[in-house]
Amino acid sequence: MRYLGRWLGESRSRPTKVRALRRGHNVTINSNVMVADGADEWTMRPPDPMSPDVEPARWGLFLDVDGTLLTVRERPSSVRLDVAVREALAAVIALNRGALALVSGRNLEDLDRIFDPLKLPAAGLHGLERRRSDGEVIYAAAAPALDPTRAAMKAFAATHDRLLLEDKQRSLALHYRQAPELAEEVRQLAHSLAKASGDELIAVHGKMVVELKPAYPNKGSAIADFLSEAPFAGRLPVFLGDDVTDEDGFKLVNERGGVSVRVGEGESAARYRLPDEAAVADWLFRLKRSLLDEAGAAQ
Ligand SMILES: [Mg+2]
Repeated sequence: MRYLGRWLGESRSRPTKVRALRRGHNVTINSNVMVADGADEWTMRPPDPMSPDVEPARWGLFLDVDGTLLTVRERPSSVRLDVAVREALAAVIALNRGALALVSGRNLEDLDRIFDPLKLPAAGLHGLERRRSDGEVIYAAAAPALDPTRAAMKAFAATHDRLLLEDKQRSLALHYRQAPELAEEVRQLAHSLAKASGDELIAVHGKMVVELKPAYPNKGSAIADFLSEAPFAGRLPVFLGDDVTDEDGFKLVNERGGVSVRVGEGESAARYRLPDEAAVADWLFRLKRSLLDEAGAAQ
């Protein structure tokens, strides 16, 4: 963990920098600091994979998908993964002994379609289905409360044609991107359905979507499960995500002394920030280059 000291040290000096920025000074701290719009807030870039101070070959990399590796679209089925990002992921997993996993709200089938031809280790449906590195898939037990919840959500979605109910079998997502005026109504429905399930299900509010899912597992427990297995065991967890459901992952990674990175704005437990998917892609390209350089040097 020694090589992270520099980054943690910078975190500790945060109050001074915040004060400096709030006073309106135009301070340049170093290249790792990004100042958000308005200069009232500052955020920290994650460790640069090409920096001599870090050892990316020791990282276990966990990546959210929508909003992190690819841009969120009106319909979840219309997303496209950038070819260069896919190639970077293929290179990173090959160079890093397989220590890369997707951690997503999508199911595994969907992930395989998006990342084709890659079949990456992955936690799908926030960990309700998890494909380990050796290819074995572990399914969480179905939650009995899902059946009545599904019926109620279907009935609600049927009355508003711009709502999209996505039945993921082990969880249910109601998208209201095309009907933003229904946000409050959707929120209340989700709240009452979660309550009716006796807290067996929780309502997770994402970007223009609310999802009813079993309270456990979550992205944090999924990352913990990966970290208990080869090739992730003993590695430093690095997790990039952009949404509410990623917070369980950030907390777990923080507990393990790892690198938690929130993509975009919003309150978060993550220690670092990247502004958007394009910045994630650049960071991945640098990670690939760093691992390639190291592999070259080792020969
Ligand atoms: Mg996301």
